[in-house]
Amino acid sequence: MIVNVLVETTVNKHNQMFTYLVPNIIKDKIKIGIRVLVPFGKRQLEGFILEILTEEKKYDYELKSVIDVIDEEPVLNNEMIELGRYMSDHYLAPLISCYQTMLPVGLKAKTRVKVNPKTENYIIIAKSVKEINDFINSNPYQKQNEILIKLLNNKKIKKTNINGSPLLNLIKQGLVKEVAKEYYRLDENFSKKESNIELTKNQQNAINEIINNKQDSIFLIHGVTGSGKTEIYMNIIKEALNENKTALILVPEISLTTQLINQFKNRFGKKIAVLHSALSDGEKYDEWRKIVRKEVSIVIGARSAIFAPIINIGIIVIDEEQEGTYKQENNPRYHTLDIAIFRAKKHNAKIILGSATPSLETYARARKGIYKLLELKERINQKPMPEVTIIDMKESIKKGNTLFSDILIAKIKEKLNNQEQIMILLNRRGYANYVICRDCGYVHKCQNCDITLTYHKTNETMRCHYCGYADKKKLECSKCSKGEMKIFGIGTQKVEEKLKELFDDIKIVRMDSDTTNKKGSHDKIINDFNHHKYDLLLGTQMIAKGLDFSKVTLVGVINGDMSLSIPDFRSGENTFQLLSQVAGRSGRSNEEGEVIIQTFNPDHYVIQTAKNHDYIGFYKREMIIRKKLNYPPYCFIALIRVLAKDYNEGLKESSKISSYLRKKLSNNQILGPSVSSLSKIKNTYRFQCLIKYRTKKELDQELKKVISHYENNSKVSIEIDFNPLKL
Ligand code: ADP
Ligand code: ZN
Repeated sequence: MIVNVLVETTVNKHNQMFTYLVPNIIKDKIKIGIRVLVPFGKRQLEGFILEILTEEKKYDYELKSVIDVIDEEPVLNNEMIELGRYMSDHYLAPLISCYQTMLPVGLKAKTRVKVNPKTENYIIIAKSVKEINDFINSNPYQKQNEILIKLLNNKKIKKTNINGSPLLNLIKQGLVKEVAKEYYRLDENFSKKESNIELTKNQQNAINEIINNKQDSIFLIHGVTGSGKTEIYMNIIKEALNENKTALILVPEISLTTQLINQFKNRFGKKIAVLHSALSDGEKYDEWRKIVRKEVSIVIGARSAIFAPIINIGIIVIDEEQEGTYKQENNPRYHTLDIAIFRAKKHNAKIILGSATPSLETYARARKGIYKLLELKERINQKPMPEVTIIDMKESIKKGNTLFSDILIAKIKEKLNNQEQIMILLNRRGYANYVICRDCGYVHKCQNCDITLTYHKTNETMRCHYCGYADKKKLECSKCSKGEMKIFGIGTQKVEEKLKELFDDIKIVRMDSDTTNKKGSHDKIINDFNHHKYDLLLGTQMIAKGLDFSKVTLVGVINGDMSLSIPDFRSGENTFQLLSQVAGRSGRSNEEGEVIIQTFNPDHYVIQTAKNHDYIGFYKREMIIRKKLNYPPYCFIALIRVLAKDYNEGLKESSKISSYLRKKLSNNQILGPSVSSLSKIKNTYRFQCLIKYRTKKELDQELKKVISHYENNSKVSIEIDFNPLKL
């Protein structure tokens, strides 16, 4: 028997498999999709069996033999094997990286990490009931008899619950025996509760539309925050379970969605497996096994849960579909929705995308009818959206207040007096190196791309990292010629200090990447704030999403336009989403909520439409700009990154690539090379070329040539990213 194995190594860049002989003693254990240990050069590596060749061919070299099999049952099923090939093809990524990405650590082909099932020891009876009873009747040892009687009543008892020496005697006499039984690391006891919620008419309509629709397979629920989307998901899933189908629910960041998971657990009981990055390797491994063993019919998880080997899928939900976490940033650079579409086709399943602020691409597709659009314009119980006030910080700065406007200070004071809670968002997404006019709010942008220029300290220049345009850093504002252009950047720590200066005895908790790097710290902050141990929660965008605090009646945004100036064509979209989300945190229960957004650009359409909770208004304005400058959704984008230790080498090769592609792909627009905004990471320079395209076939062919040209180049390496969310 001969097998083709995809080995865990970067050598097989062409997705090449290696052929091995199977020794007779392990022949019976060979299956497609299991892992095996094989000799590879001087090393031993793990790999996946992807093909079994029954016909004996002649090889002009001596085949090596498989050393051992690792799994009894395949870790990759047929669907996954096929999906991996699709991903490798579609994202131009090494096949092995696709399979490794799909699997939890304990099941990847990696010799270094081993994860095993957890077992617990139990005692069971080893003879017939009659023999045991006869023994008890003639046995003078009371303690032994007690154990036997207990076992007759309970069948099995945990070993740790039984006394030592009487038990040992029983084992010695062959009356009872010890067995190991697997248990799951995560095995919470959730009892199912029937829901007594009466659906609103809007909810019922959306549910009916999705269940009865036989034409469409992808649905977008565009519903304002608090419109009851979760309830819709749960009702549709219930319907799927009734038809003996399963459901896959994707959420952006699990640490912030504990609430949603608990809702599902309460509704559906123990039928759920959970998969996300905060679980230990062992926990992930166990959750995966529950799925493979068909013990669950619902899987909830973050991005990678889209690969869960659940069968017979009826529904795939992608909640908060606009979130960047659905895109993987390293190889294979996949988007969860692409994978969902592939799987939904295989299973004949429906996909539900949900959001209050869908991505422009998704909303445009829904308006075109590619996805079925369902709109929910009202909150449950007609609760009003929070009132948003915009503060012009240019005025405030003239009075010397750079961080807090008078109005925000007064409002914080008011809420503190009323024993209500406050959330303050410091918008720090991306990097702070942009230059803004302190007088008029003007930001220096690229004349070709309408993208904020990034300040490069080394040569005092402002650079566009889309097209490479560069300009000297201006000291004076070129718009109003009065103001001084200054680098803008503030940190949460500085804001915290200022708040403590302004308000005596204020209790502040800070949530940012510094205070949340320990496991469980997120949950602790959220929990403490929920129990009103603090008056004010200060944080970066991580406080904007999904949180539900009933006593928060004021949300303040310190620098509403910080993310507007990020050099990315999506900066407007991301800012609108962020402001809408954080506004949705205010006034979630009885008290009405307020939102205060401080900004240098009070008239900017992003700020204005966010103030009015006007997604459609924002969408229309933004689409005009995207069309004019030819950005998605009017085209697709592919990014080629060239990584080099040597600056000149990187520049030379990336220039070669862009002129080659310009020659070969004359129908596409090719920008760059430019130095990436994160130009030097880990001593490596990053150059990038950006391709705007409409069809992928021709592009793929040329990109494959570029990839293989640089395969053995030790000075530069190439990365391809289709539809990158960060540029
Ligand atoms: P969204 O996800 O659209 O922001 P949620 O699903 O979180 O909204 O719902 C908002 C709140 O309304 C939740 O507390 C939920 O329990 C409640 N809710 C949902 N549907 C109903 C209903 N039909 N009747 C009463 N309350 C509801
Ligand atoms: Zn430019």
